[in-house]
Amino acid sequence: MISIENVKKVFSTKNGKVTAVDDIDLTIDKGEIFGIIGYSGAGKSTLIRMFNGLETPSSGSVVVAGREMSKIKGRELRQARQEIGMIFQHFNLLWSRTVRDNIAFPLEIAGVAKEERLKKVEELIKLVGLEGRGDSYPSQLSGGQKQRVGIARALANDPKVLLCDEATSALDPQTTDAILDLLVDINKRLGLTIVLITHEMHVIRKICHRVAVMEAGRVVELGPVLSVFKSPEQPITKRFVQQVTELEESKETIGHLLEQFPESKVVKLTFIGESAEQPVITNLIRQFNIAVNIVQGKVSQTQNGAYGSLFVHLTGEQEELAKAVAYLDKQEVSSEVISHA
Ligand code: ADP
Repeated sequence: MISIENVKKVFSTKNGKVTAVDDIDLTIDKGEIFGIIGYSGAGKSTLIRMFNGLETPSSGSVVVAGREMSKIKGRELRQARQEIGMIFQHFNLLWSRTVRDNIAFPLEIAGVAKEERLKKVEELIKLVGLEGRGDSYPSQLSGGQKQRVGIARALANDPKVLLCDEATSALDPQTTDAILDLLVDINKRLGLTIVLITHEMHVIRKICHRVAVMEAGRVVELGPVLSVFKSPEQPITKRFVQQVTELEESKETIGHLLEQFPESKVVKLTFIGESAEQPVITNLIRQFNIAVNIVQGKVSQTQNGAYGSLFVHLTGEQEELAKAVAYLDKQEVSSEVISHA
């Protein structure tokens, strides 16, 4: 379904040239769920943006569903793009449109007649489990429901490939699981090829058939998920595998904490190339009359900002806790309150 050969992408910036993708060969089969994992700046987004023609390779070829993406233009490119759906970390919904109208949008662009559009939208609403929410606006939905709208919209033109760009990074663990289950269901029912990029190894383990590990623009390890988990070879792959053990341990710890302190809150802070974690934690401690403890997690500093997740346990009076959560909500970093383990 996707075949790329000797693909390189070099950006020219005012500070010189940046090689985002450095000579990658990859074949992704029809019906496969293929994961690409790497830290911020590894080149994951640039790579998948070449799959739908949002970026053109500096050299090499990208063939998706039989079309060489860099060689087509105009109508043919628009048609090719309709065969490739995409979903995003922050959903990219149209806030002034209802769920139904968000899903209908790509159909309008494709010039589908109204009657057919309405029928298709209802089918999609059912497929993603949003029955009864068609008239809601995105602001009235939970994160998981917003991503369901994103998925329905991406599927509107019956694509052959679905690209998922950190699609569950802004969601809490339960919602992440539900969205991943939905992706597997869609993969099975529609035979859709799914390519997802993430920095979270548990996402890869839960649904992917194969995984490519990216570092500095290159694929440094590639194989079936089970064998990569069993015997990771590269140091970076070993770190990603370790992440899953840590996450499982943290789930247990969080369960105990919330049992012991039922009035407390655990917040998952996710940093993806965003501001450093230290100021956020320091402000929490300074501005609110609460105790703040980091339960688990790790944030790495990279050239492109902070990267990783922290589970933070907050204890104190309800009112102060609510203020602290409201404060976190306004920060650049994505935060999710976990009320049950
Ligand atoms: P990832 O998705 O793994 O975080 P990206 O593909 O976003 O990585 O970025 C890879 C590298 O390419 C980074 O160093 C990034 O700064 C650079 N890069 C990405 N897009 C551009 C662009 N449009 N112009 C210049 N540099 C870019």
